[in-house]
Order: sequence, then structure tokens, then C-alpha cells
Amino acid sequence: MPKLAIKGGTPVRTELFPAYNTIGSEEKEAVMKVLDSGNLSQFLGAWHKDFYGGPTVQQFESDWASAFNCKYAISVNSNTSGLFSAIGACGIQAGDEVIVSAYTMSASALAPIIYGAVPVFADVDDNNFGLCPESIERCITPRTKAILVVHIFGNPAKMDEIMRIAKKHNLCVIEDCAQAPLASYKDQEVGTIGDIGIFSLNYHKHIHTGEGGVLTTNNDELAERIYLIRNHGENIVEPKGVENVFNSHGFNFRMTEMEAAVGIQQLKKLPGLIDQRIGNAAKLETALSKIEGIQTPVIEEGSKHVFYVQALRFDQEKIGVDRNTFVNALKAEIPSAVLREDTPLIGAGYVKPLYLQPLYQQRATHCSFNCEKYKGEVDYSKGICPNVEKLHFHELVTHEYMRPGMSDKDIADVIEAFNKVALNVEELR
Ligand SMILES: *Cc1c(COP(=O)(O)O)cnc(C)c1O
Repeated sequence: MPKLAIKGGTPVRTELFPAYNTIGSEEKEAVMKVLDSGNLSQFLGAWHKDFYGGPTVQQFESDWASAFNCKYAISVNSNTSGLFSAIGACGIQAGDEVIVSAYTMSASALAPIIYGAVPVFADVDDNNFGLCPESIERCITPRTKAILVVHIFGNPAKMDEIMRIAKKHNLCVIEDCAQAPLASYKDQEVGTIGDIGIFSLNYHKHIHTGEGGVLTTNNDELAERIYLIRNHGENIVEPKGVENVFNSHGFNFRMTEMEAAVGIQQLKKLPGLIDQRIGNAAKLETALSKIEGIQTPVIEEGSKHVFYVQALRFDQEKIGVDRNTFVNALKAEIPSAVLREDTPLIGAGYVKPLYLQPLYQQRATHCSFNCEKYKGEVDYSKGICPNVEKLHFHELVTHEYMRPGMSDKDIADVIEAFNKVALNVEELR
């Protein structure tokens, strides 16, 4: 009789895991207050005090700046639009190159393309899966203007070395912190170490406002440029007397008062939610690291990992079966979560290495890598980032079983499932 569920045995658990839902009465009351006021957005795309938005938006930004120890927090309607704003504010243009991690959500690499620039993909560090400093150095050319760092999975990248490289070559550093709010590197919040940080408030993230994002910076000039890009800057530069108008034409990236009201309440919950993630991840780590061939995340000394997901390294030789087979067997032992029943909480790998997407393989843009101002020759062929490919196709397992709301019993079931599959791996051969 087989023991593994995927072979017809009895699963460890069929009851769905609890939903991750951080929205409560605080958010509801805050939104009702905004609705009662009748003022759902107070932005004006003109040089006027309302250029900076309404009272709730401004309160949210001021709360965010205090929580993250930075001079400016600027709300936008997504992390994606925040990335566009940051690239524009750094003065990136056609012909420039921006070094980006190849292992991240697609929006991180798209931002340079919007400004006609070229994303150059660097490989990731074997331990924290963020940009590898040596790989960054190898990607630098006379056209490099910025480094776009992603603190992937909530684990801070090696910022000291990245900042040293940036200083040496006079590059702008943009930190995509969508997965890493309140993660820190040597006691400094990520997003406040480089020139600009960007956070996501979409519903997959630690806290959310439905859709939304926040940029952080300590630089007055960059902040001014971000405000212009967020809100129709072309109308503002003349009356405001802006001298450097380059890339200051704007979009409408404005957050509503309702989203900001939710954001104020969500921000208060963030430290507690992170503590729960870290606590649950520690329980899983203690048990899973006992399985020969599974390695739990490596956190650099002085770093705080906030566990958007817990990324495990899988050693096929030691386990005795390939990763995808193992993960499929795990999925049969434990179900997904309430609300997202069709989305498993565990996966083999993360997103496909970005340069392998059709956009890069077919070079399908009007002006970027195919722009006549571009004098370089960027390589998007398979094999350019060996670590990313090894992790994605063979070694990485990502899961969200450390989410707040998981009880000790829920976590014990997850551990039991891992142990069961590891012990009965011969059934999978
Ligand atoms: C979620 C995410 C984004 C996009 O965030 P949106 O707010 O949905 O635009 C960008 N980068 C990373 C690393 C992300 O995880």
C-alpha cells in the first residue's frame, strides 16, 4: 500500500488552511469616514496646495515616513507606478542601461523600458537571492545609470557592497521593497539605504490597500521629481519654477483618500504581522532544516528578513528525487488556503528568469534595446544568469506557510507533510 497521497495514500490534511486577511473593523470605520466626507480624492493636477493630495493621503505619507525613518514617503497607486516614477526621477533616458535582478516580479525590469532605457540582467547571490555584487560589476558599461535592487522574498540584498559599487560608478540605486517592508540591513530599513525605495500595497503583500504603493527617499530633489511624475508634472513645472524639467512630464499615479485611510490602519498592524511571520518561519525552520537536503534561508548577519515567502533550497542528490516531483507530492498531502483555493501555498521555483520572457526573447518594444540611441549590445540568451536558472529550474521551493493566521497545529501539519514525503521518497522514483 502506498503511503504518499499522490500515489493513492491518505493525505496528511484535507482541511483548507486559514485565509490571510488583515482587514478588520479599523479599516472599515476609516473608509466610512472618508465616504461620509464625500471627498474621495483631493488631488489637483495644478500648482496648488492640493497638488500634494488630500488630508488622508498626507497623513498616511507622514505616518509612513515616521515608521520607515525617512524624510519623504510618497504614495502612488502601485509599486509598478512607483518603479516608473523612480526611474524617471533618476533621469534615466533612451540609450541608458539599468542593472536589474533577473529573479523578480516582471515590473521591476519593465520600468527602464518605459523611459526607453535597457534592463541589463545581473545574476543573484546564492544565499539571499538578491543581486550578486560581482555580477553587478561584470554588467557595468559606460552606459550604466542605475542599479535596481530587489529585496526578494523579504530578505535584504547585500547593500554595503552594492552601495560601494554605485558610489564608485556614480549610479542611482533604486530598491524594490515590494516584498520587504520593515526588513532591515545593519539596522537600517531597506528602501532608505539607496536613493529611492518602493513598496507595494497590492493584496498579495504583507499589508495592502487593494492596490497601492509608496516611495521613500531622503533626497529633496528626487522627492520633487517624484511628485511631478505622480501628478501631471508638465502642468506644474512652469508655475512652480522647476529648473530641471527633464523627465518631469507626469502620469496620474495618485492614491485615493479611501486607500490612504486603509493604509493608515494597515501600517499600524505591520510590525505585529511581521513578528508573526518571523515566529512562524522560525518554527518551520527548526523542523525543516532537519531534513537532509533542505536548506532554510540564509540571513546575513545584521539583516532582518520579513518573510514574504520562505524560500527553501532543495538538493536533489541528497533527497533522492527531483524538486518538481517532491513539490507535487507535497501539494497532494496538504491543501491550499481558504479564499484562494486554486492557488497553492507552495511552488517549485518563483517567476521564470525575466530575460526568458517573450518581451526580451523577441525584443518586442518600440524603443529600448532596439532604440537607435542605444549603442550597446545587451545579451538576453539562456545561460546569462546561471544561479537564477539553477534556482528556478532545479533548487528553489517557495512557500507561504509562515503567514499570520497559521496555528501551531497548521504548522505541525506542514512539517508532517514535508517529513512524510522525505521519508517515503522511494515511492516517487
Ligand atoms: C508585487 C511586486 C511588484 C508589483 O507591485 P504592484 O503594487 O502590484 O505594482 C513589483 N516588484 C516586486 C518584487 C513585487 O513583489
